[in-house]
Amino acid sequence: MESASVGIDLGGTSIKLGVVTPEGDVIARSEIPTPTGHPREAVREISLAVKKMIDSSGLNPLRIGKVGVGTPGVLDPQKGVVRSAANLEGWNDVPLRDWLQEDLARPVRVMNDANAAALGEIRFGAARGLTNLVLLTLGTGVGGGIVLGGKVIEGSRGLAGELGHMRIEMGQPRPCACGLFGCLEAYAGGKSLLKRLHETLADDIQEISLLQEKSKRETLTVEDLFWAAGEGDGLMIRIVDETALALSAGIANLLHALNPEMVVLAGGVSRSLLLLEKIREYLPDMALMAYMENFQLCTSGLGTDAGILGAAAAVEDLA
Ligand SMILES: [Zn+2]
Repeated sequence: MESASVGIDLGGTSIKLGVVTPEGDVIARSEIPTPTGHPREAVREISLAVKKMIDSSGLNPLRIGKVGVGTPGVLDPQKGVVRSAANLEGWNDVPLRDWLQEDLARPVRVMNDANAAALGEIRFGAARGLTNLVLLTLGTGVGGGIVLGGKVIEGSRGLAGELGHMRIEMGQPRPCACGLFGCLEAYAGGKSLLKRLHETLADDIQEISLLQEKSKRETLTVEDLFWAAGEGDGLMIRIVDETALALSAGIANLLHALNPEMVVLAGGVSRSLLLLEKIREYLPDMALMAYMENFQLCTSGLGTDAGILGAAAAVEDLA
């Protein structure tokens, strides 16, 4: 009987792999730099890393069954094809599922990384036991995954859940990396927060921000911004406030559209307690009361293994 699956978290700089038990324990793990060669060669390298990890797990390889992959970019989830991915150079129409199946002789499922993360939260994380969840990943950009009735919503072309590009600002919308204006990502992505941090410091001629001095010595991060806001830096609090308002508007829209039991915030930006506090304060004024009953807003419960666990959770109903 199979007693574990393989989860692969395919990132632009590194690839994390794990052997995951049905209980969500990662019993073997490995990490390789993302191969940069021709995609077929790159996939062979990934397969080799999977085989090595399986050998080192101590489990009989026959007891390690399916392989799940969470990948960035635009996918055809039915065919397991990566159509394009900004962080994976040359990956255009790559039949990732078929190539991995060929190399590994195991059933493979390829899923958008944020969708996989949403399943991971339901199976092993903050939303364990729930069936209706929306996940927002607040990293450099903003991604999303929607699970309704226990199933990931992929949409007609596998493009559902791109929640970072919901429009949340009509008045003076900021430009988004996608080319549109007023997207949630233009307010709640790490890149946008840093952009606004630098704009604010450039305007701050009285040098009233705690970060003015530091900005002359080193490259500031989102963590610096949150630290300064936590210390009472008014200019930084204003940026966190704007971010919280944008996220509250986005979450309120999601509540009215999907009526989830939980929204999970993941990624670096979600680690700010002040941000979370402010969203909890603003949200009830933006959502109808009926949607707030039994609703929970949480941060990810999966930590650094989120990608591996999500990918492994994605193979559960794979025949
Ligand atoms: Zn956008």
